[in-house]
Amino acid sequence: MKLTVGQQRALEAICDTFAPADEGWPSAAEMGVARAIAEALPDPAVTGRPEQLLQLLNIWDSRLHSLFAIRRTAAFSALPAEERLRVLLSWADSVLAQRRGAFQALRKAIGYLYVMLPGAHGTASPVWEKFGYPGPLGVQRPAAARALRVTVPQRDLELTADVCVVGSGAGGGTVAAVLAAAGKDVIVLEAGGYYDDADFDGAELKGFYNLYADRGFASTADRSVGLLAGECVGGGTVVNYTTSFRTPDDVRAEWAAAGVPWFTSEEYTRSLDAVCERLHVNLEHNRVSAREEVLRRGLRSLGWHVDAMPRNVLGCDQGKVCGYCGLGCAIGAKQSTAKTFLLDAQNAGARIFADTRAMRINIATGAATGVEARTKDGHRVTVRCKAVVVACGAIHTPALLLRSGLRNAHIGRHLHLHPVSNVSGVFDEEIRPWEGTMQAIYSDEHCRMTGNYGVKYETTALQPVIAAAVLPWREPRQYRALLEKLAHTSGIGVLLRDRDGGRVTVDRTGWPVTHYALSAFDRAHLRKGFHGAARILEAAGARLIYSPHAKFCCYEPGRRGSHETFTRDMDAAGWSSGQLALFSFHIMGSARMGSSPRSSATNPEGQTWEARNLYVMDGSSFPSASGVNPMISIEAIAHRNAEALAKHL
Ligand SMILES: Cc1cc2nc3c(=O)[nH]c(=O)nc-3n(C[C@H](O)[C@H](O)[C@H](O)COP(=O)(O)OP(=O)(O)OC[C@H]3O[C@@H](n4cnc5c(N)ncnc54)[C@H](O)[C@@H]3O)c2cc1C
Repeated sequence: MKLTVGQQRALEAICDTFAPADEGWPSAAEMGVARAIAEALPDPAVTGRPEQLLQLLNIWDSRLHSLFAIRRTAAFSALPAEERLRVLLSWADSVLAQRRGAFQALRKAIGYLYVMLPGAHGTASPVWEKFGYPGPLGVQRPAAARALRVTVPQRDLELTADVCVVGSGAGGGTVAAVLAAAGKDVIVLEAGGYYDDADFDGAELKGFYNLYADRGFASTADRSVGLLAGECVGGGTVVNYTTSFRTPDDVRAEWAAAGVPWFTSEEYTRSLDAVCERLHVNLEHNRVSAREEVLRRGLRSLGWHVDAMPRNVLGCDQGKVCGYCGLGCAIGAKQSTAKTFLLDAQNAGARIFADTRAMRINIATGAATGVEARTKDGHRVTVRCKAVVVACGAIHTPALLLRSGLRNAHIGRHLHLHPVSNVSGVFDEEIRPWEGTMQAIYSDEHCRMTGNYGVKYETTALQPVIAAAVLPWREPRQYRALLEKLAHTSGIGVLLRDRDGGRVTVDRTGWPVTHYALSAFDRAHLRKGFHGAARILEAAGARLIYSPHAKFCCYEPGRRGSHETFTRDMDAAGWSSGQLALFSFHIMGSARMGSSPRSSATNPEGQTWEARNLYVMDGSSFPSASGVNPMISIEAIAHRNAEALAKHL
C-alpha cells in the first residue's frame, strides 16, 4: 500500500537504524526493506481493519515521541544514530507489553526482509554472501506434472454437493478423501493458491508469500508470538517439517476422560494406522545433519533421551534440498495432503476450488445448508449442501463459526500453541544449518516436568528467515556478528506443551484476533527447557550460547559465564510477552470436542452443539494440546469423524 511521506520517512529511518550500511553490509534501505514492508501491508481502506504498524508510523517521527522515549525534542529521523538506537531500545525494554510487542513486530519485519530479499534483479543478496548462504537452490523438477486439477473460479458460481469441506490442510484433505471414498459428492474450498513441485524453488520470500497465512507475518494481537500456518492447497502439510508422531497413549487417555471416549478405542487406533499408512510414515529417512549432530552429541554426552523421528516422506534426499522443506518439498518427497488424501478425494470425484475463502456458513432452522465464499478476485461462490465440515485451522475455524452467528462460549477459547523458540550455539566447525534432514531426531528428556507437561527438544533447519526470527537485536554490529556466524550455528528448539490456553475472537470485519500469554505454570516449564537446551549445546562443545530474549543473554562455556549466570540473565531479561521471541507452528484446540456444550464447542463427532450438519474436523478439535507435533493426530481425528459422518449421511 502507499504510505504517506511521513510514514515513509519514519519507516526508512527505523530500517536504517536497525541495519545501516557498514563494513560491506548493505543498509536495509539499499535492500529495499522499507519498500517491501509497505508493499506487504494490507490497506485498511480495503480490509476495513486498522493496521497497527501504520498507526505506529504516524507518531514515530514526531518530536513528542522522541521526548517521551529519550527526552529529546528532535524528530526520530533527525536524531544521530546512537540516539535513534536508544529510542528503539526504549521500546524493546519498555515496561508496557504493548510497546515491547511493537518492537518485536518491527524487529521481525525488518529482520526477515533484510535476509529474505534477493539482490538487485533477482541476483543473490549481498547479505547472504556475508554469511555464506547459497540462496535458493532453484526448481528441482521443472517438468513435474501437477498432481491435482484445481479450479480457480473466474466468475460467480452456484454449486451443489453433499458435503462442502472448508480448508484443504491436514484435517480438510483427510475428510475430503474419506467422504469421497464413501461415494459422497464433495466440494473443497481453499483460501490459498495451488503450488506444486515445479513451483518450489526454495526462495524464502516467494515461499512465504505464496504458501503461508499472512505471508508468514501472522502473530498474536500483542505481537508476542509469531503464528506460522500454511495457506495453500494442502495447508500446513505442504510447508511442514514431516515429523509424524502418533497421539501418545497418555494424551489419548486424557482426551477420552475429557469427554471423547473413542480416543482410547480400537477405532481411533485404526484411524491412526490408516493415516500413517497413506502418508508413508517411516523411520528410514533419518540421516542426521551437521545441525542435528550437535543435538545428538550433546544428548549422548549428558546421557539424555534421544530417538529417531518418524517422518512422512518417500524418497527424501535428506541433504541440501531437505533443508528448504518449509518452502515446499522441491523433489516431491513430502507426503502432504496435496500428494495423498486430496489426490484420493479427487480420484473419487471431489472438486477442489482454490483462492476461494469461505466468508459465512448459511444456517437455517438450526442446520447448516451451505457456504458463501469469495475468490481473491472478488467472485461469489455459493455452495448448497447437506453438511459443512469446517477445517480452516485453529485460527480461522473459530473465526468462521463466530462470523456465521454461532455463540457457544467455547468457540475460540482453549487455544493452544505449543510455543517454541531456539537456544542457539556457535561452534568451531562449519554446520551450514540451512541444510540436511528437517527433523531426524528428537529428545523427550524433559517432556514430563509436571505430569505429562514439559518440553520436547527438536531442531529446525535455519534458513535465514528462521534464524532471524530468533536472533536478538540490541544494535546493528552485534546483530551482524551473530548473523556472520550463522554457518557455524545450530539451534535447539524448545517445544512447550502448554496447559493454559489463549483465545481467538473476531474484529468487527469478522477477521480473527488471537490473544495469548504464557501462564506462570507454562512459563516455568519453558524456562527449564531453555536451561536444558543450553546444557545440550554446552555438552556438544558450543563456544557461544545465546537465548532469543530481547535483552542479549549469552555465555561462553569455560571462558565467560556459566549456565547458572545464563539462567540468571534470562530471568532478569524476563519471560513475559514481548521479552523473548516465541513462535507457534502448532495451532490447536479453539473449537474443542467434548461431552457437553458447557465445556466444549462440538460433540465427540465434531458436530457443533448449535447447528446440525455443521462439523469441525481440524486442529481446533483437540481437547487440549497434543504434546507432540499434531499433524497425525489431526488427520486421524478427521479420518475417524469423517467415517462417522459418511455413515450418518
Ligand atoms: C512451518 C510448519 C512446520 C510444521 N511442522 C510440523 C511437523 O513436522 N509435524 C507436525 O505434526 N506438524 C507440523 N506443523 C503443524 C501442522 O502442519 C499443522 O498442525 C496442521 O497442518 C494443521 O492442520 P489443520 O487442518 O488444522 O489446518 P491447516 O493444515 O493449516 O489447513 C487449514 C487450511 O484452511 C484454509 N483456510 C483458512 N481459512 C479458510 C476459509 N475461510 N475458507 C477456505 N479455506 C480456508 C487455509 O488456507 C489452510 O490451507 C507445522 C506447521 C508449520 C506451519
